[in-house]
Amino acid sequence: MKYCRFQTPSGPQYGEVVDRAGALWIERLLPPFEEDPWTHLGTGAFEAVPFLNAKLLAPVVPRKIVCIGRNYREHAAELGNEIPKEPLVFLKAPSSVIAPGEAIRIPPQSQRVDFEGELAVVIGKRATKIGPDENVRPYIRGYTIVNDVTARDLQKPDGQWWRAKGFDTFCPMGPLVTDEVDPGTGLALETRLNGELKQHGVTSDFIFDIATLLRHITAAMTLLPGDVIPTGTPSGVAPMQPGDRVEVSVEGIGVLSNPVDGYGK
Ligand code: MG
Repeated sequence: MKYCRFQTPSGPQYGEVVDRAGALWIERLLPPFEEDPWTHLGTGAFEAVPFLNAKLLAPVVPRKIVCIGRNYREHAAELGNEIPKEPLVFLKAPSSVIAPGEAIRIPPQSQRVDFEGELAVVIGKRATKIGPDENVRPYIRGYTIVNDVTARDLQKPDGQWWRAKGFDTFCPMGPLVTDEVDPGTGLALETRLNGELKQHGVTSDFIFDIATLLRHITAAMTLLPGDVIPTGTPSGVAPMQPGDRVEVSVEGIGVLSNPVDGYGK
């Protein structure tokens, strides 16, 4: 199933997204997920809405965002880093999440803010210490797209990445969540800046696959429904400027498109 979260006159709602003759529609309302007390199930008749016309919100309200760094060989190389021997994991602030179409804002503290297009896992079921032979699939609600926006010039000086990865607006997410894709089969991931192709990767090129990542994370930290795990970015990261538009696409999920802006004068 595919689902999205969108704004309606009575507040945010979840909706099932279906393909009708090649066009996506929000067909019916869904009950809210346990991690999201701010969204309610609408009452009364619901008339289907074309997905393209909906005012989309981020499809998940995560309690935490656990990111993977350097999970594609070429991206590790382009930043001059070694291929990691175990997953590189860091946290990104849930307050940095923005909707499809919402502006990424370049903060005055940084002179270099990069896009990082990523496939993201959405957790569906509480997961603690997943066993070595245990199937991870029952813990996964589905997959979405995240732009792991990064203030590159603050990563080293700050040491901790609280600002580099955590500025407000640094986590565009969406446009929907789907369980109808299998990243292990190799989904194409592309990032375009003002229409120009900048990143091209395939999700079967991960250094650490999703099962390995979930075992590694849950050995230390319980994952809760709605937690989001961006799985790392391929090579081709580059800076953005106010006035740009950045689009991340993943085969079978869709396109996450956001404009870039400053904070005004
Ligand atoms: Mg990243």
